[in-house]
Amino acid sequence: MTQEPNRAATMDKIVALSKRRGFVYPGSDIYGGLANTWDFGPLGAELRNNIKQLWWRTFVQKRRDMLGLDAGILMHPRVWEASGHVVNFNDPLVDCKTCKSRFRADHLLEEKLHVDDAASKTPEELTAILREANMACPVCGNRTLTDARQFNMMFSTTIGPVSESGTRVYLRPETAQGIFVQYKNLLNTQRVKLPFGVGQIGKAFRNEITPGNFIFRVLEFEQMEIEYFCKPEESPEMFETWLASMHEWVKLIGLNPDHVRVREHDKEELSHYSDRTLDFEYLFPGTLGWKELYGLANRTNFDLSRHQEVSGEDLTYFDQAANTRYLPHVIEPTFGVDRTMLTLLVDAYDEEETVDVNGKSDIRTVLRLSPALAPYKAAVLPLAKKPELTTVAMDLYNRLMDETGLLIDYDETANIGKRYRRQDEIGTPFCITVDFDTLEDGAVTVRDRDSMAQQRMALGEVAGYIHQQTRAGAVV
Ligand code: ATP
Repeated sequence: MTQEPNRAATMDKIVALSKRRGFVYPGSDIYGGLANTWDFGPLGAELRNNIKQLWWRTFVQKRRDMLGLDAGILMHPRVWEASGHVVNFNDPLVDCKTCKSRFRADHLLEEKLHVDDAASKTPEELTAILREANMACPVCGNRTLTDARQFNMMFSTTIGPVSESGTRVYLRPETAQGIFVQYKNLLNTQRVKLPFGVGQIGKAFRNEITPGNFIFRVLEFEQMEIEYFCKPEESPEMFETWLASMHEWVKLIGLNPDHVRVREHDKEELSHYSDRTLDFEYLFPGTLGWKELYGLANRTNFDLSRHQEVSGEDLTYFDQAANTRYLPHVIEPTFGVDRTMLTLLVDAYDEEETVDVNGKSDIRTVLRLSPALAPYKAAVLPLAKKPELTTVAMDLYNRLMDETGLLIDYDETANIGKRYRRQDEIGTPFCITVDFDTLEDGAVTVRDRDSMAQQRMALGEVAGYIHQQTRAGAVV
């Protein structure tokens, strides 16, 4: 599918803005960076917290059928044997013998030979296609690519002071297993009945062969996952219900619906644990195009039955009404924090033609983030750096911080036009200007980020207005 021609965002612009304004910095920057690692600056940390808080509120706190969990990153190594990750969590790898570049074989065939279903092919099939096409290395041009072979993506480390005799453990490649491993404790301590779900937010680690595209594919990322346990026969219906809830979430965070689509995995593409999988895909700018944002899978009773078998613990559920015991089936909606953040930045980025204070035409960069997710909800700006104005402005700032419980910015540097632009660029929905009239009429100017419309408002009304306008789901 082609992209709409007038889309303002490019990946380069998003990377530049992210660094310039403190959303995302290259990891270990003063040491020349460590490839594909990123740190989140003050604005990025706020944006991520807002995403996670909204997700937790929506899917855990506001639902009577959901519980929250915060499991550890390190788990018993047998967890990953039981889950199938030791054997199955592989990507097909191809090396160039000349320049030593590494590629994911399926991606290489998709991108260079336009093979549609490369992800569902075995390494042998991928190798056969490579050989058939007599493919050259895309980096050095030599025809010295190796056969495709499986590469396990789990990072491992050792517990204990001596690596040879220590216990080899893995950094979790998904948060889901923490939920399955605690399923019995949750069942025994939380008065739950089927259907019920468990939500968790946390870091996951994958030794990706081809990380890149900024924070789209990284080695260390954060997931927001739900495992929803239900009667086996109800799982197809629960799948549909969760599909609808995921659509609602996409709407809630304000993504452009034209940039989101749902794609069903065909049988060959399904993960080892899945009976049915859908990907929510997002249309990224440039060559990246449509790529996975979120996933929805029917994991059946795969994980519980494997953990029951390997741990020897009874993980069945006693259904009182039917007087039987069985293993529940599991629907898994999974969301990446990093990809959510990236799509929000890309989707919100806009460049608008406008006129500056001198009447000259100008380009304004504005992040049209959903107000509920914007790092700052408002900025208080004294028109000039004069004590009579800054005192009132600082007092308003303190009151807004206390009364709304939201994050508010305060800025008295540079001219007012520049300060508006700075706030536009970081997505602050409202600028509140204290001017000389404020000292007479006790009112301030509230400027709307998107329309740039200004309205006069009594000082005492500002807190309620900002609170109301930046609620999740509120339309500015
Ligand atoms: P992909 O096909 O892009 O490798 P996946 O199908 O392996 O993704 P899942 O195992 O379904 O991904 O992981 C759930 C979610 O975690 C994804 O939808 C995505 O948002 C996020 N995610 C997975 N891998 C990464 C990564 N390397 N970097 C950033 N986010 C990731």
